[in-house]
Amino acid sequence: MALEKSGLVKTERVLGPDKVPGDESQIPNPKVPLALVLFGSPGSGKGTQSNLLSKALGIQQISTGDMLREHVRKGNAVGTAVEAKLKAGFLVKDEVVNALVEKRLAEPDAARGFILDGYPRTRAQAEVLCRMLAARGANEVVIHLVVDYNVIIARLTGRRQCPVCGTLYNVISKPPKVPGVCDLEGAKLIVREDDREEVIRERLEAYEKQTRPLLDYFREKGKTLYEIDATNETPEQVFRKIEALIRKQ
Ligand code: ADP
Repeated sequence: MALEKSGLVKTERVLGPDKVPGDESQIPNPKVPLALVLFGSPGSGKGTQSNLLSKALGIQQISTGDMLREHVRKGNAVGTAVEAKLKAGFLVKDEVVNALVEKRLAEPDAARGFILDGYPRTRAQAEVLCRMLAARGANEVVIHLVVDYNVIIARLTGRRQCPVCGTLYNVISKPPKVPGVCDLEGAKLIVREDDREEVIRERLEAYEKQTRPLLDYFREKGKTLYEIDATNETPEQVFRKIEALIRKQ
C-alpha cells in the first residue's frame, strides 16, 4: 500500500467543514490554521510538493532553504553568516533558523496556515516549532515523504539548473531537450554548489543524524503523522495522495 498512517492516534480534527464567505483559502476550515510540515530527506520532493500544495490549498509555502539562499543572494548579515554552511551542506545554527521562521509566521499571510518545507530539522527546532504552533492553536499535520536511498542519490546527483532562469532539470527524470542546455534560455546548465557529490553526502548525513530522529519526537508528542511512499510516483501522484489525505480529515 502506497499510503499508510504510521501508527499514530489522531488527536484532533485537522479541517472542519465550514468555509468563511469571501475566504480565498482552499482549506476547509480557515478558522483553524493548518500547519503542514513536509518532512523527508534532501531530494525527497518536499520543495516540489509544497509548491503544488501551496497553490491548491491557498496557503503559503515556507522553505527555510529558500529563505536562507535569499539572504545569501542579498549579501546581508544573515546571508554572510550562513553562506559557508550552505555551501558545505551543514545545518545552519538553530537560533538563526528559528528566528527566521518565527518572524515569517508572524506575517499576516501565514495566519490561515502554511506549509513548512525543510523545518524543523533538529530537536531544538522541533521544540521551538511546537511552542509556536501551540501558541496559535494550529492543527499540525506532519507528512513524511519516504523515498528509497538509491533514488535520492540519483535525483540529487542528476540535478541541473539553468544559471539564467533557475529552471531545475534532472538528467534522468526531467532531462532538457538538448543535453546540458536550458530549454528556455539556451544557457549551459550547471550543478548547484550544494549538489556536488561530497556536499550531498554531508546533507544526507545531517538528515540521518539530526533530522530523521525527529520522527520519533513527533510520535512521542502524539502528532498526526502520515507516511507516503514517494519512491516510484510522479510528483503529480504524490501531490494527489497528500491532497486527498488533507481534504478527508
Ligand atoms: P535540501 O532539503 O535538499 O537539503 P534545502 O533547500 O531545504 O535543501 O536546504 C539547503 C540548505 O539550507 C541545507 O543544507 C542547510 O545548510 C540549510 N538549511 C535549510 N533549512 C534548514 C534548517 N531548518 N536548519 C538548518 N539549516 C537549514
